[in-house]
Amino acid sequence: MSHTVSDPVPGGASKAAQAASVPAAAASAPSRGLNTRHVVLAAVALLLASWGFLPEFSVTLLNYIGLYALVALGLVMLTGVGGMTSFGQAAFVGVGAYATAWVCTSAQAAQWLGGLPPALLPWAGLALGLALTFAVAWFLGAITLRLSGHYLPLGTIAWGLSLYFLFGNLEVLGGHTGLAGVPPLVVAGFSLASPRVLGLLIWAVLLLALWALHNLLDSREGRAIRALKGGRVMAESMGVDTARYRIKVFVLAALLAAVSGWLYAHLQRFVNPTPFNLNIGIEYLFMAVVGGAGHLWGAVLGAALITLLKEQLQDWLPRLLGSSGNFEVIVFGLLMLVVLQRFADGLWPQLAALARRWVRPAPSVLPAAAPLPARPLPPRGQVVLEAREVTKRFGGLVANNAVNLTVRAGEVLALIGPNGAGKSTFFNMISGVDDPTTGEVRLMGKPMAGKPSREFAALGLSRSFQHVRLLGQRTVLENVAVGAHRRAHRGWIASMLRLDRAEEASVLAEARRQIERCGLAAHADTPAASLALGQQRIVEIARALASQPAVLLLDEPAAGLRHLEKQALAKLLDQLRAEGLGILVVEHDMEFVMNLADRITVLEFGTVIAEGTPAQIQGNQRVLDAYLGGGDDLGVAA
Ligand code: ADP
Ligand code: MG
Repeated sequence: MSHTVSDPVPGGASKAAQAASVPAAAASAPSRGLNTRHVVLAAVALLLASWGFLPEFSVTLLNYIGLYALVALGLVMLTGVGGMTSFGQAAFVGVGAYATAWVCTSAQAAQWLGGLPPALLPWAGLALGLALTFAVAWFLGAITLRLSGHYLPLGTIAWGLSLYFLFGNLEVLGGHTGLAGVPPLVVAGFSLASPRVLGLLIWAVLLLALWALHNLLDSREGRAIRALKGGRVMAESMGVDTARYRIKVFVLAALLAAVSGWLYAHLQRFVNPTPFNLNIGIEYLFMAVVGGAGHLWGAVLGAALITLLKEQLQDWLPRLLGSSGNFEVIVFGLLMLVVLQRFADGLWPQLAALARRWVRPAPSVLPAAAPLPARPLPPRGQVVLEAREVTKRFGGLVANNAVNLTVRAGEVLALIGPNGAGKSTFFNMISGVDDPTTGEVRLMGKPMAGKPSREFAALGLSRSFQHVRLLGQRTVLENVAVGAHRRAHRGWIASMLRLDRAEEASVLAEARRQIERCGLAAHADTPAASLALGQQRIVEIARALASQPAVLLLDEPAAGLRHLEKQALAKLLDQLRAEGLGILVVEHDMEFVMNLADRITVLEFGTVIAEGTPAQIQGNQRVLDAYLGGGDDLGVAA
């Protein structure tokens, strides 16, 4: 890969990141000492060098660890990164294993694939397994991923059980006895019959998957997957099609499981339903969670720990208890409770924190960044957002009552009103989070009835939330980069193969530009959760700006800011207005509103009670009554 070490580009990830607090010269200094990439390469070299000398038994264990880690890796993506829990992954391992076993052993398959040399049969089995898994996972995902809360895990248990019983009851799959006589893999005339040789393939596949997923997570698509955990509303508002991403992550995890099953079948050379039952599905989840569900290497750590532990327990427990049985499951359950009590994020982060004393993160260096494509802004004065008679009822409560409002390019419109007046509800109406009960919303002149938030985002609307919706563990830079999601296009495969670097550089450079503009440059590389709440609101504004909006909706942006920070925010909004954005703010700080807004709309009990310039509103008796009645203060120093 063509990486230049001293990259002057602001998007040069962690380097330029440090430049904010460290002198610029240090940022381009050559990197010294160990970094994570060195450690991984050294570990791989060590494994490879010792592979031929390891005892048979260790090779077997390592093979199983590799196979389990592949499945757990899918679960890390699904559970830890994407926020969806599955107990049913073992069933997909079964699909992969049975597909190849059937293709390689059945007379029926031989007839259908007549003429295919026997050495190619396992590859046909792999193709069938992947195709079947893809279809089954897409279908199951489309049904179950709609379920929320606990229903999703319950759904995965249901189909995990169904597939398991299907394996055991299908005559063509040999029922409960299974299929024997699965041939070894043959690659270029070379047989992988020996576990020691096949193990090389297993670990090569695992390492390749780790590499590809690491790349995926370090990209636009990875950020979108992570955004799923920030809640659908946030991700959709940033233009992410959450339903589609959820299904894609689900299918990806299932495909990894199927590959593991394929390798397993050719390692065991025999397949029966037992290894694909729900117990094992739960064990896979243990592995991911104990290892650290938010980290790819957590899957490998978890798979290794659970495999070694199981091995020991199966030796010891029957001796201790004097009878045989799957007692290890009980121990696993207790272990998981203890680990989660002590280390909620699993063991990998602990290990990584220890290692960080000696090992630096590998530098991620990007090519020079070209600017992202920019959308032409509508001419100043043009109506960009229009609400016509928007009414929203929650049962008997009328939260918005026939609200009319227009926002024009190049103006700041403020929406004020006492708590509970319906301001946040109105924001949801005009940003596609929720649909009005009656009335119409038009964005850029287009009727938006029934459109999801991401369509609003596509047309140039972006927003911040009253209750901050950031990914607290991720850096400010990554959070803001999510905002630019729709301005880039590289997909999953390109990201996995690192073909997205030029675009990624542009996205990160844009994110950094917006962060600087919002005055948070010093915090770009800190986790968002470590910022003060007021600053987190500003991060939300930067994220909204990264989408290059024509319309900006800000829900209480000044709440929690100190005086100087408020002034800086007012200056920023003033500048955005001058650039031609249409801005709608909900804000309680009257001094802030009166000094900034061109026009003000006042809501009370869901109804517009006044509209006009700040001066008109300040002199409006009804508004004064509403505020005095509500105990709020309209005291203003204009
Ligand atoms: P504001 O942002 O002006 O403080 P909101 O829009 O949050 O006011 O709330 C307006 C009214 O609608 C309140 O009485 C609130 O309790 C009610 N409300 C808001 N969201 C819902 C909901 N999802 N279901 C039922 N009532 C709601
Ligand atoms: Mg509100």
